[in-house]
Amino acid sequence: MNGSCAFFYSKKGGWRRVNFFAKIAEKIRAATAEHGYTCDGCGAEIFDYPVHRLCNDCETHLPRIGERFCEKCGRETHAEGVCLECKAAAPSFEKGITPFVYRASAASMINRVKNGVPELALFFGEEMARSFAARYDGERGEPILIVPVPMTVAAKKARGYNQAERLAIAAKKELEKLGFCTELDTDILQKRRETAQQKHMGARARARNVLGVYHVHKRKACVDRVIVLVDDIMTTGATGSECARRLTGAGARKVYLLTATALSERK
Ligand SMILES: [Zn+2]
Ligand SMILES: [Zn+2]
Repeated sequence: MNGSCAFFYSKKGGWRRVNFFAKIAEKIRAATAEHGYTCDGCGAEIFDYPVHRLCNDCETHLPRIGERFCEKCGRETHAEGVCLECKAAAPSFEKGITPFVYRASAASMINRVKNGVPELALFFGEEMARSFAARYDGERGEPILIVPVPMTVAAKKARGYNQAERLAIAAKKELEKLGFCTELDTDILQKRRETAQQKHMGARARARNVLGVYHVHKRKACVDRVIVLVDDIMTTGATGSECARRLTGAGARKVYLLTATALSERK
């Protein structure tokens, strides 16, 4: 479904079409798989599922964040230090953390999470938790509040689920195993209206596009809390930054942005 990638940033209309085709592709994949033991990435048969959910090929080709990443937003960079996006406008969140670069197999996998295979969130959630544990600079015993980036009620109804929620549930489970004390609340934030298609927008236009879209529904729950905001893809960071700004405004002490994937620094 990579050919349809152009639609994935679309918050309005477009993704429904992608959703339709992705669902058909999933059905074909399921029908052609001889057993339940298939790679979550490509559908090839594997024999040690569910211990390993990806075949060797998919596992080795996943574009992981390596040595070079932005110390602020966590995206892959071309040089040491802070990325161009963060230099242009520092995001409101404390730190962005992500295990994968949004390209190749990681991009197709996270797009599948969005388009009919929410079960794949399990794989990403575990990886996200491990990356978080590696880069978190606070006390592990301090309770953290996990908040998924919301969809509008209509969009969630159309998709049947919010992928950020699925990622948050999976990440929470793994974070608990890693010794973190976590709480998940899916009602802290609300998305009040659909945003315009962002795919052709620059950073500033995206920031304007999300302004005022997110509303803190439970302000009291944010006071003095360390919050981990969870989303699927960080592109410019505008959504994460706007949500973090609102949460900090409601009294949150620190807001981290934890995403499954992030676009690398622009060239
Ligand atoms: Zn595979
Ligand atoms: Zn950055």
